[in-house]
Amino acid sequence: MEGVLINSEPPEHRTATKTPPELLKVIEAPHMFPQWWDWKWQMKNRITSIELLRKLLHLTPKELEGTKRSKGRLAMAITPYFFRLMDRKDPACPIRKQTIPRIEEFSVSAHELIDPCSEDEHQPVHGIVHRYPDRVLLMVTDLCATYCRYCTRKRMVGSERSPLTREDFERAMDYIKANRSIRDVLISGGDPLILSTERLEYYIKRLRTIEHIEIIRIGTRIPVTLPMRIDAHLVNMLKRYHPVYMSIHFSHPKEITPEVRKSCTLLADAGIPLGSQTVLLKGINDTPAVMKKLMHELLKIRVRPYYIYQCDLAMGTAHFRTPVSTGIDIIEKLRGHTTGYAVPTFVIDAPGGGGKIPVGPVYMISQAEGKVILRNYENRIFEYNYL
Ligand SMILES: *Cc1c(COP(=O)(O)O)cnc(C)c1O
Ligand code: SF4
Repeated sequence: MEGVLINSEPPEHRTATKTPPELLKVIEAPHMFPQWWDWKWQMKNRITSIELLRKLLHLTPKELEGTKRSKGRLAMAITPYFFRLMDRKDPACPIRKQTIPRIEEFSVSAHELIDPCSEDEHQPVHGIVHRYPDRVLLMVTDLCATYCRYCTRKRMVGSERSPLTREDFERAMDYIKANRSIRDVLISGGDPLILSTERLEYYIKRLRTIEHIEIIRIGTRIPVTLPMRIDAHLVNMLKRYHPVYMSIHFSHPKEITPEVRKSCTLLADAGIPLGSQTVLLKGINDTPAVMKKLMHELLKIRVRPYYIYQCDLAMGTAHFRTPVSTGIDIIEKLRGHTTGYAVPTFVIDAPGGGGKIPVGPVYMISQAEGKVILRNYENRIFEYNYL
């Protein structure tokens, strides 16, 4: 595996091979272009420059200003596949709001932080975040296929610096080996599926040599923003290292396309249990109707809703943040009203490294010796005596 651990974005990922009119033609009729289904073509042709973006759609003044200033901050990158889902006439389109920088990113509000979950302080070695007793996060890359403007790790993603060198990976391995209480490794980033299947396999294979590692998880958004990356080669590799779980980041029902259904089918058929993670985003998915639709669509493609996150206090994300009560109300409108599997846990990742704290509707109205007073989803009151 010489050389495969060097982690920087290959130059061909950065330079578009297509001129704007050509790219537009492909975006408008992808079925005419077989390369559309080649994930490397998608990566090479990502929309990363303001010049290209302006030729593809009419930017609002806020988007124009945000895009101009985004250089040197969280990079902009949108796969042609994901761009195609965008309503190019509607600045309120949920895909558009998630991917095109806006001027609001440059206002920082009082409680926002560079590292909102204090991950950097919980890194015993570079690349590992160890916050819970029995599991760690292993960040193998800082690159993603498409950058989400609200990213909690925007301090590091897309920086094109090398977050995990060969030496870092060896130190991470030593750390996990030496800590026998770690039974679960969550491979994250950035997006780990941006790596070649060979490099990813190298990491997983090495982790599987550690006896006390029971499960391996992958956190990713690629099945949604670059579904063609999920191919037989990848899933056949992953299934050799079971139990492997996957948490997929979804934001909106519009993201569940035939391509995404196919990517999740391949993964689920390979025996990989799929869970979803969704960030609650103002104007994108902050209504019970949109969230319920998303959760139902996820179950249809065999993804079990796992978490809804309150939008972290990352710098310049105030325009995405809702009150906490919005999330609680969404859960209240799901629980009991629909399939239990469609109800994720709403969590706040506490600033200062407190970890994920569940918040939700309260169903136990009071408790006394031998008895509790409960309310159900219809607000009917029940007494439960257990002594
Ligand atoms: C989210 C997270 C995990 C995994 O949490 P689960 O509740 O087990 O899914 C582990 N480590 C860190 C640092 C995390 O942020
Ligand atoms: S895919 Fe995840 S890590 Fe990458 S930009 Fe989006 S939220 Fe951040």
